[in-house]
Amino acid sequence: MQGKIIKGIAGFYYVHVAEAGLYECKAKGAFRKAKIKPLVGDNVEIQILDEGKKKGNIEKILPRQNQLIRPAVSNIDMALVIFAAAKPDPNLNLLDRFLVMMELQNVPVTICFNKSDLVDEQTKYNLAQIYESAGYKVLFTSAKCKENIEQIKDVLRGKTSTVAGPSGVGKSSTINLLQNHTVMETGAISQKIERGKNTTRHSQIIPIEEDTYIMDTPGFSSIYITECEKEDLWRGFPEFVKYEPQCKFNGCSHISEPSCGIKDALESGKISQSRYDNYKLLYEELKNVRKY
Ligand code: GDP
Repeated sequence: MQGKIIKGIAGFYYVHVAEAGLYECKAKGAFRKAKIKPLVGDNVEIQILDEGKKKGNIEKILPRQNQLIRPAVSNIDMALVIFAAAKPDPNLNLLDRFLVMMELQNVPVTICFNKSDLVDEQTKYNLAQIYESAGYKVLFTSAKCKENIEQIKDVLRGKTSTVAGPSGVGKSSTINLLQNHTVMETGAISQKIERGKNTTRHSQIIPIEEDTYIMDTPGFSSIYITECEKEDLWRGFPEFVKYEPQCKFNGCSHISEPSCGIKDALESGKISQSRYDNYKLLYEELKNVRKY
């Protein structure tokens, strides 16, 4: 039987099999010997050991489409990152760090500003301006007023997405709305893996619809980019990539050199000040990362 690992805790893997339910599995010793660790998100073949107790063995990990380092998961199609439009005000430096981290791992991102019931149109416009011009899809939702949740569902449909964000932004409220409670199985799984309010300490996948999964990850309050040379940081800003070929100097840092395509784009308003400022901050930070 084939299924997907939706959670891993203390050597047990919880494998969701469509229409058959959730099996508690152990990985065969062969994986340990080969130093292969099953990951949340892996599609696997399992052998049922006890149908009544829903226990099985993971026999085989099917080829991975991709494998992220942070969070440690596999087969991710995209990331949905949730920030609050207000309360707390969005920390755009933290958002940009998240975006860079995903760009460097080649994961497309949709940005969701929740609590949009708390802000005016101008605030939404300003946020959309910064991130849509950088090439991101931007949604404004309100979990409280159940607004635009359907837009999130449309973005997620047919994919496996990691859902991330700082705590307090309404991530749990949003995920609860996304879960289709009429699908009994989903509710049962939530119970079995004890997903409750503010209990996300491990990454776990929640089936939303057939072929649609979200991966709830622990809330974050800081992100340090370390797996990148400062010279490559611009690649983490998709809107910079278009203007970089216009730089006069090879290896331009886009900070102090003349004839820089990126600074020109900033001056003509094609790149937003906020994104550029965060680029500079991250660049300075990377300069100080100790290289071993
Ligand atoms: P999490 O920590 O990101 O999982 O956030 P929660 O879902 O626990 O929500 C944090 C707080 O924000 C709670 O008091 C929610 O009632 C509130 N909240 C969540 N979504 C919204 C929203 O869309 N608008 C408003 N005004 N409050 C919200």
